[in-house]
Amino acid sequence: MKHFKNYINGDWVEGDLGILSVNNPATGEVLGTVPKVSSAKVRAAVDDAELAFRSWSKETAETRSNYLRRLYDLMLENEEDLGRTITLEQGKPLKEAIGEVRYGASFVLWYSEEAKRISGEMIPSSHKNKRIMVLKQPVGVVAAITPWNFPFAMITRKIAPALAAGCTVIVKPASQTPISAIKIMELVEKAGFPQGVVNLVTGEASSIGKAFLDHKKVKKITFTGSTEVGKELYRGAADTVKRISLELGGHAPFIVFDDAKFPDCIQGALASKFRNCGQACISSNRFYVQRGFHTEFIQGLKAQLKHFHQGNGLTPDIDLGPLIDQNAYDKVSDHVADALSKGAVLEYQGEVPDKKPEGSGGYFYPPTILSGIRRHMKIYREETFGPVIPIIEFEGEEELLTMANDSDYGLAAYVYTQDLSRAIRISEGLEYGIIGLNDGAPSTAQAPFGGFKESGIEREGGHFGIEPFLETKYISIGL
Ligand code: ADP
Repeated sequence: MKHFKNYINGDWVEGDLGILSVNNPATGEVLGTVPKVSSAKVRAAVDDAELAFRSWSKETAETRSNYLRRLYDLMLENEEDLGRTITLEQGKPLKEAIGEVRYGASFVLWYSEEAKRISGEMIPSSHKNKRIMVLKQPVGVVAAITPWNFPFAMITRKIAPALAAGCTVIVKPASQTPISAIKIMELVEKAGFPQGVVNLVTGEASSIGKAFLDHKKVKKITFTGSTEVGKELYRGAADTVKRISLELGGHAPFIVFDDAKFPDCIQGALASKFRNCGQACISSNRFYVQRGFHTEFIQGLKAQLKHFHQGNGLTPDIDLGPLIDQNAYDKVSDHVADALSKGAVLEYQGEVPDKKPEGSGGYFYPPTILSGIRRHMKIYREETFGPVIPIIEFEGEEELLTMANDSDYGLAAYVYTQDLSRAIRISEGLEYGIIGLNDGAPSTAQAPFGGFKESGIEREGGHFGIEPFLETKYISIGL
């Protein structure tokens, strides 16, 4: 078991409030410990990051780009070790964890390129003797608060555009998965970033969050996590009018029309549902299947699920790992029990590999299919974050759109149909920021990831993802 330190102003430092332990969700074993820092230490780290901002923001775009490119190369060179760390503390199968490293690193590559494409504008004035020059400038010190479900990629998706824009950052990773974040800092150090440009603190989430919110030098909060905490940060950011980006919860509808291509719709359903054991904000959470296609769809899913292997993600050929902790396990169990008690039908449930007694790790919930889902069941409205497919039958397009949009969330939606006009009609009608049209895995570094409604504010990815780290200034020039 190893003790890891925080990374502040180019030094590896201890906390001043004790330690936190990190567990393996597949076995319950303690993997290591990380420091708990006080608000005073967080404030000092922000001051360091602000000092570093003064010079980092003045570097040329090319210099910033080169640092990011070095970081990208180091990430790929170390993908096995990084993947293992993700599997150990988060639980996903090793091949998925290495996939996450590649996906996460692709944001570092993208923003190493995008750093060079931040440009302003000259606007003609209405006066002959004036010109208007528009500049883009980095917002300043950024605090990045990240979740446990993608402990690597959720960090790179935030720090890469921030650094490219010329901001400095302080990362607060999830308490369940800080080691992946610390491994990123080790590579940041190797890549040679100047001191104070990238920092990491661990500890009690609400006190670190409050220290960020209270500090005037934190100019932006970028957060991925629950809608509840996101709303708290949104409110808290108001006092100092901080910029804020929020990537919050989702409740994705997965829509299958009776003309959907088979087995593509089955593959898409499995990809969107079982990646990371259903613990993604874009995981499908309601499956709307057109009447007439219901039986075939369920048979198709069952046939595939029979071949799924669930277990410790380090075991070769595992498709599905454990859930992150006991709370997650209890929530999924509760959603399924609630649906069954209100009349849902259990169509399929896989074998549980080695569920350990409560509290001792091994939070394995088996793949499950339910049909006959109705609006008054919890699973219809709340994010399940587990490997459960709840199926609802529908008849026509209008009824479908009303049901699919009946949610406070608006992150991702999936549509399977071969009818082009219908595909466009439904995609345009869905109140969601991301549409997987005949695509169960829409995330990519080039695209603007983010949600409508209570699923969030701003976008991550592509040229869209750098804007939230930039201020717009104009200089009115008299000639
Ligand atoms: P989840 O329910 O998926 O764990 P959370 O929103 O609780 O999602 O966690 C996402 C991130 O937010 C984690 O890094 C967590 O430690 C952090 N967090 C939790 N509560 C707060 C808070 N009150 N202020 C700031 N950050 C918080």
